[in-house]
Amino acid sequence: VINKFSLTFSAQSCNESFARMVVASFVAYLDPTLEELEDLKTVVSEAVTNCIIHAYDSDPTKEILMNGIAEDGKITIEIIDHGAGIEDTELARTPLFTTKPDEERSGMGFTIMENFMDHFEVSSTLGGGTRITMMK
Ligand code: ATP
Ligand code: MG
Repeated sequence: VINKFSLTFSAQSCNESFARMVVASFVAYLDPTLEELEDLKTVVSEAVTNCIIHAYDSDPTKEILMNGIAEDGKITIEIIDHGAGIEDTELARTPLFTTKPDEERSGMGFTIMENFMDHFEVSSTLGGGTRITMMK
């Protein structure tokens, strides 16, 4: 049986912890290990931060969509924005690549998502937005 949720929230940094908690609560019944929980919360934070900073340039009136799907003990998380988009997703996924080097960005968000999850996908349209799909 598939279990899902869908959530829309404002692109504000206070909602990073909200999104982390939602995912942690959603998977609780699957009895994840502490490490699995921490990994999930970390990747959700990274993806939501990217939407706020890169997609929306910190405009708090914009919205982020998060979907969760649990099936056969596997969890899929989608994080979607309708912001700036990414010109070259392959380049953006390169470790240490960042378009905001002057703002304490290390360019490791996508690398963390890729390493912490079993499956990681970025699809993006310049000017249209970005969808991150991750599975574990
Ligand atoms: P860090 O995550 O280490 O703070 P970062 O956010 O720059 O630094 P990544 O998360 O790996 O690094 O993202 C790499 C680059 O991809 C970003 O610098 C940005 O140019 C682009 N990017 C990532 N997510 C989005 C998004 N949702 N919308 C538009 N551009 C994005
Ligand atoms: Mg990032």
